[in-house]
Amino acid sequence: MTTRVYNFNAGPATLPLPVLQQVQADLLDFGGTGMSILETSHRGPVYDEIHQQAIADLRELFGGSDDHAILFMGGGAQTQFALVPMNLLPQGRHAAYLETGVWGEAAREEAGKMGDARTLWSSAASGHDRVPGPDDYQVLPDAAYLHYTSNNSIMGTQYAAVPEAGEVPLVCDMSSDILSYPIDLKRFGLIYGGAQKNMGAAGVTLVVIRRDLLERCRSDLPTMLSYAGMAATNSLQNTPPVFAIYIVGLVARRMLEQGGMGAVAAYNDKKAGLLYGAIDNSGGFYRGHAQPGSRSRMNVTFHLPNEDLTALFVSEAAEEGLQGLKGHQALGGIRVSLYNAVTVEAGRALADFMAAFHKRHG
Ligand SMILES: *Cc1c(COP(=O)(O)O)cnc(C)c1O
Repeated sequence: MTTRVYNFNAGPATLPLPVLQQVQADLLDFGGTGMSILETSHRGPVYDEIHQQAIADLRELFGGSDDHAILFMGGGAQTQFALVPMNLLPQGRHAAYLETGVWGEAAREEAGKMGDARTLWSSAASGHDRVPGPDDYQVLPDAAYLHYTSNNSIMGTQYAAVPEAGEVPLVCDMSSDILSYPIDLKRFGLIYGGAQKNMGAAGVTLVVIRRDLLERCRSDLPTMLSYAGMAATNSLQNTPPVFAIYIVGLVARRMLEQGGMGAVAAYNDKKAGLLYGAIDNSGGFYRGHAQPGSRSRMNVTFHLPNEDLTALFVSEAAEEGLQGLKGHQALGGIRVSLYNAVTVEAGRALADFMAAFHKRHG
């Protein structure tokens, strides 16, 4: 078997090894059918079972309620930047955006092409080093929705609590922390996120939408761009990304077997604790970007004293099998992505490397 590295990529990102092994075992002959899941009809009973089971397992991970529809869509989160306002922002109304980084800004800009999308609050002035608290903004009660980004994968910030929206439907880009901790789905009108960070492979986007919002969706949209249209066919209007959905199903099943969202969250907390511990115990050698109250458990961002040391950090880490650590160009420095499938062992190896690197070069 080839050696697998410690993979801290920001997305697509590492997948659970048992899931990859299952995919490998199923690839040529899925469940005794004599064909791959890639080669079977999306209208047949074999795929249907995968599709329904994936939705059922996701529903259980999201808390079990049937008040929301779970949709599989294409085009990634960035397509949702446009579909949310197309469906839910009528003429004469406005949508409010909390902008805590590159993704939140992009979401508002795309929505601005569709209607009246307003910045309600932005962390740009402080370099996007924090998320807002409840006293930082007030959403107007006639807003069509309030949009926020629960985890800012580029900046390394994350909301510790769901923001207050009153009666206004809350829409969340949850791309980079979806199903990494338990949520109270009742608080949300709509959640979306690509599968490629916490849930599987690129190619499918999860949309979780409250059923009463489906009735409010603009009714003259093309079916493939309409949440109501997709919900009406249980995401089977066209050929869905069957392979990506099959992998999401395997990942979801595994999460349930591991004890569900509480266990997943505890595991993620452990990893983040190791990394923030390494930063906080470095006497300022490593400087975290996020303010302490806004620290992300999914993407840990920090800077070293200079660019040369940053480059050296990345290359020495790679030599030790610790890969995917270069920060996004919008922020620089180091970014450690700790999505669900990253192991505590990987987190510990990196924390140990950080201490040793500091000793050598500090
Ligand atoms: C990764 C990411 C995106 C981009 O997702 P795509 O599926 O590539 O469009 C959007 N928002 C957030 C918060 C992300 O982390």
